[in-house]
Amino acid sequence: MCKYVNSCSFYQEFASRESFVWKAMVKNYCDDGCECVRHRTYEVEGTKDLPATLLPSGSHASKVFLALS
Ligand code: SF4
Repeated sequence: MCKYVNSCSFYQEFASRESFVWKAMVKNYCDDGCECVRHRTYEVEGTKDLPATLLPSGSHASKVFLALS
């Protein structure tokens, strides 16, 4: 599990969502964090305040995405 789960606003906001899309994203990135843009930012700049809607891929969540349960 990524070491930043407790301080990551993306994880706090979306890890408990039910949709397959969110579950897949959390599984793919947050299990180890190595491919995650947020993780890389935290490593370099510390656990700064990134918007929750900044996805691990580096893009921003669309309204369609955010509407998923
Ligand atoms: S989104 Fe990235 S930084 Fe946040 S918990 Fe998941 S892998 Fe870690």
